[in-house]
Amino acid sequence: MTGIFDDLKDYGHEQVSFFHDEETGLKAIIGIHSTVLGPALGGCRMWKYADDQEALRDVLRLSRGMTYKAAVAGLNLGGGKAVVVADSRTDKNEALLKSFGRAVDAVGGRYITAEDVGMTVADIDTIRTVTRHAVGGSNEGGSGDPSDMTALGVFQGIKAALKVSGQGEKLEGVKVAIQGVGNVGYHLCSYLSAAGAKLIITDIYPNQVKKVEQEFGAEVVAPDQIYSVDCDIFAPCALGAILNSRTIPQLKCSIVAGSANNQLEKDEDGFTLFSKGITYAPDYAINSGGLINVAAELDGYNKEKVLNKVSQIYTTIESILEHSKKEHVPPHQAADALAEKRLKEARKQTPNTSFGFRSQFMTDTKIMSELTAASLN
Ligand code: NAD
Repeated sequence: MTGIFDDLKDYGHEQVSFFHDEETGLKAIIGIHSTVLGPALGGCRMWKYADDQEALRDVLRLSRGMTYKAAVAGLNLGGGKAVVVADSRTDKNEALLKSFGRAVDAVGGRYITAEDVGMTVADIDTIRTVTRHAVGGSNEGGSGDPSDMTALGVFQGIKAALKVSGQGEKLEGVKVAIQGVGNVGYHLCSYLSAAGAKLIITDIYPNQVKKVEQEFGAEVVAPDQIYSVDCDIFAPCALGAILNSRTIPQLKCSIVAGSANNQLEKDEDGFTLFSKGITYAPDYAINSGGLINVAAELDGYNKEKVLNKVSQIYTTIESILEHSKKEHVPPHQAADALAEKRLKEARKQTPNTSFGFRSQFMTDTKIMSELTAASLN
């Protein structure tokens, strides 16, 4: 049997904090994977986990993912995430949210919270009444719902993937199959439709489907048919782990590029896509638009700067895919290499500063120069 410190070692975490408040019923875990590049920013997930171990695994996995996402996006931020063990539909109330906010505050700015599954913009507003270490609210210069910026980043990444795979970057007449037309999927359909793409959509909620069908003239298929439809691009915008040994053999697309987190069920699924010649835009690199949007609050939210930074996702995906082609490594590994290179560089420049922020040494210019295929070598 392994203990918590074994888990921390395996995942490479700096800190995991457990919070309990008898009065409000709060059971929360804050996972700080890394502050090498800056304070650890990541959403809070409210979920009725089967047991504490499941909650711990989720916070460890998700917070590590945030370190990589921020590093590849060129942000001076570390990776963190929080989970609140509760059912957001029945257990959520103002007292619980404030109690969680106080837990965030107790970490003293090493962790900054935001929305994730089970949390809303309004919940962040409530949390912000007790801590300033929360972003993505609607009050006091809050950036609100990030899904439009996530979709815009995915749209940029799709164009880069088309270009690198030798299909030009025009979307006119290109068939895109979108799994999940919720917040991000809906906005993505809007960008794709305006660019002349043909949309094939699915969702388990009929109302969402009807809206997109009517607004953008999308073709609708059943949820289990989306993998095998005849299309150029498959855009997963619903669930994780949907690229696996059952679904990959069904794919007819040449590109997979969508917003869902943790799309590969296993690492080996990334190799399978690569060996089949399917270009995969790594999830955490293409879906960082939302993180870029909430992170912008920390410097005083400026929409123009956000749009500029989100549009750079094009260059990031292009660099990762070019490197993948040149070095014959799958794109998910090329993305990891880019993130790890940036982290290594940061550690090298300011060694022996565990638990402190080391971000400020790296200017944006330096970051962008790193986002070239050459820097990956
Ligand atoms: P959402 O809940 O608004 O939308 C997801 C949609 O997927 C819903 O309409 C749901 O009905 C549908 N869905 C669920 N299961 C399905 C299935 N089996 N088949 C087809 N459709 C199904 O969520 P969202 O905010 O649009 O996020 C979508 C994905 O992108 C998630 O994986 C999320 O983690 C990821 N993501 C979102 C953001 C953001 O800014 N919202 C940022 C980064 C990553």
